[in-house]
Amino acid sequence: MDTQAKIYVAGHRGLVGSALVRALQSQGYGNLLLRTRDQVDLLNQVAVADFFAAEKPDYVFLAAAKVGGVQANNTYRAEFLYENLMIAANVIHSAYQHDVSKLLFLGSSCIYPKLCPQPIREQDLLTGFLEPTNEPYAIAKIAGLKLCENYHRQYGVNFIAAMPTNLYGINDNFDLANSHVLPALMRKFHEAKQRGESTVTVWGTGTPLREFMYVDDLADGLIFLMRHYDHTADFINIGTGEEVSIQDLALLLKELVGFQGDLVFDGSKPDGTPRKLMDVSRLHQLGWQAKTDLRTGIAETYRWFQQQHRDA
Ligand code: GDP
Repeated sequence: MDTQAKIYVAGHRGLVGSALVRALQSQGYGNLLLRTRDQVDLLNQVAVADFFAAEKPDYVFLAAAKVGGVQANNTYRAEFLYENLMIAANVIHSAYQHDVSKLLFLGSSCIYPKLCPQPIREQDLLTGFLEPTNEPYAIAKIAGLKLCENYHRQYGVNFIAAMPTNLYGINDNFDLANSHVLPALMRKFHEAKQRGESTVTVWGTGTPLREFMYVDDLADGLIFLMRHYDHTADFINIGTGEEVSIQDLALLLKELVGFQGDLVFDGSKPDGTPRKLMDVSRLHQLGWQAKTDLRTGIAETYRWFQQQHRDA
């Protein structure tokens, strides 16, 4: 990937897209193509086709998606399925029609079966039933990676797909109802500390295990894959290979935010899938691994979060 190559980052305002823009710029890539939803609506087939015809990007990072935590996925089920299917189909098809050299599609670890053997290997895809709370999102993401695979098989294009584990970092969504666990609990602890409250509510039992990756590590890994990983009719996991229980995550956040009170577990909220740890041996064999540990990544994110609050 030449530093002058025209690189389209779809979803550049989101958690992943904004980290990609930071990483690409810091690595000397100066010709970035960025469009907001108002400028190019990725749900609109004609708008996407016109945009690709006019701009003809060389590389595409497809980081645009409708995303959210366990409750958002379970509530807005139709939107998660429809919007993610449309984004994937519109962008991947236009990239094929307009001769994009290489495209990287972002999936998610929730594409794997709910009761998958752990750690989850790439070949475990489609070997069992999905977790019901995020099945619509997962089906759309599976369709996206299958588009990459089958456009490669039929047309020979170099479209690859990466499946990241749970992510967190700068520009995350901190909405209490719709976000993922890490930003939600960071905000809850922060606000409870400010208000002098004695408890913070953690959804579910606290026993599920999750893997968390700092989004700046992910961005570095995605650029690595774009440069060094070609289509082998298969996609690749990207994660840290380490997991933590929701209870231990909550205790770490409580400590880093400096909240003195207690945790209360709300069993009326869903736990989601019991365990979700990626097997990242293929990625490690390629020569890349994540470098930011959870404590460091959370501390960085919390610094940014506090700055946002002060500015607001
Ligand atoms: P998931 O990884 O797709 O299940 O999505 P989440 O990040 O939303 O949830 C991960 C786990 O954290 C689930 O077991 C949730 O029940 C639990 N959790 C605990 N407290 C919270 C919270 O305040 N918000 C969210 N989203 N999840 C929470």
